[in-house]
Amino acid sequence: MQCVSSQQKGSKKVDDERWKYYSAKILCSHHGNHRNRSKGLRPNQKVCACNCPYTWYVSLNVRQQKYEVISCNLEHANHPVSEELIATYGEKKHLDPAALEYITDATRDGAIPLKVRKRVYDEFNVVLKPKT
Ligand SMILES: [Zn+2]
Repeated sequence: MQCVSSQQKGSKKVDDERWKYYSAKILCSHHGNHRNRSKGLRPNQKVCACNCPYTWYVSLNVRQQKYEVISCNLEHANHPVSEELIATYGEKKHLDPAALEYITDATRDGAIPLKVRKRVYDEFNVVLKPKT
């Protein structure tokens, strides 16, 4: 099992519609260290950052019209990796396809996020978290 999540950050937009980014860094969802800002005793159980080094760095080769892998580290560390566990990640993957289609259409048409969340809750009984 490999990549469990991806992020694209620090990337410049490309004019050509076929290529979304010049470069992308793809990280494990356990990448990085969590800085605990809480003063409470109970640990935050939603945080999964545990300094996993798994990364891919890809860059667009405009002349060859393809992405090149610049560097990668294919080893996960500090967390278990199994298919069953990964299936529990990411609420978006578990959404009803009809709900996902509604959210995709509504966000593309510029609907108000609060109203989209309310309608998804009313119609599909799914609680969407606000973007943080
Ligand atoms: Zn990992």
